[in-house]
Amino acid sequence: MRTPLIAGNWKMHLNLDQAAELAAAVAGVAEACPDREVMIAPPFTALARVREVAGERLILAGQNVCWEEKGAFTGEIAPPMLRELGCRMAIVGHSERRHVFGEDDAMVNRRLRGAMAHGLVPILCIGETLDEREAGQTMAVLERQVRDGLQQVEISEAAGLVIAYEPVWAIGTGKTASPDQAQEAHEFVRRLLCEVYEKNIAAGIRILYGGSVNAANVDEIMAQADVDGALVGGASLSAETFERIIRFA
Ligand code: PEP
Repeated sequence: MRTPLIAGNWKMHLNLDQAAELAAAVAGVAEACPDREVMIAPPFTALARVREVAGERLILAGQNVCWEEKGAFTGEIAPPMLRELGCRMAIVGHSERRHVFGEDDAMVNRRLRGAMAHGLVPILCIGETLDEREAGQTMAVLERQVRDGLQQVEISEAAGLVIAYEPVWAIGTGKTASPDQAQEAHEFVRRLLCEVYEKNIAAGIRILYGGSVNAANVDEIMAQADVDGALVGGASLSAETFERIIRFA
C-alpha cells in the first residue's frame, strides 16, 4: 500500500560532472525498478545539471528549503526556485541542520509548511541524540519533533507527507539502529500520527529509516513492518552501493 521510497542525500559532495554521472546511473536503476520510488537530493548547485539526465522516474529534492518565496534571506533557497529546477520534494529538519546550524522545531515547521505551500513534498527528519537515547528520552524527543514539526498542517494536507527517522548517533557513524530499534521507533511514530491525524492518514504516510544504511543492512531494515524506505547519506554517493540499496530484497 505504501510505495517504498529510497532517497539519497548527497550533502555537500560532488562537482558537476560527478553529480551528472552518478545521477544518470541512478536514473537508470530507477527506470528498472518501477515498484519503488527513488529520490536524490544533490547540492543546490548541481540540480540544473542533474535534471538534464534524471529522466521521468528519478525524483529530485532540495536538501533544505526556505519558508519564504523570495526576499532578503541570504544563503537560503525558495520553494519556487526548487520547483523551477525540477524538484518535487525537499528535506527539512535534517539532523545536520538541527545540530550544526541550530535549526529548531519551529523553524523546521516553517520550512515544511513553505515546501507544502508550493507543492513540494517535505521529508521531515526526526531523531534522538545518543545522550537522549541513553537518558530514555527517545520517544519523547520523537513526539516533540513530530508534533511541533507538523503544527498547522491540516489533515487534508497530511496524506502525502514523508517522515524520516534518523537517530543522530547513527548518521555517518557506521552504527545502524538494529531492525528492532528502527521498528520500535517507526511504530511509535505511526501511532502518534494516528493521534495527530487519523488511522487512514497515518497508514499512508511513509516513514523512512536513515542512519548508516548500506548494502549489507538494507534488506533487514526494509523488512520491518513500519519501515517504508531509507534515507541514505554516504552510501548514496556510490552508484554500485546505492543500486544495491534501491534493489533491496
Ligand atoms: C543522512 O545524511 O541522512 C544519513 C542517513 O547519512 P548516512 O547514511 O551517511 O548515515
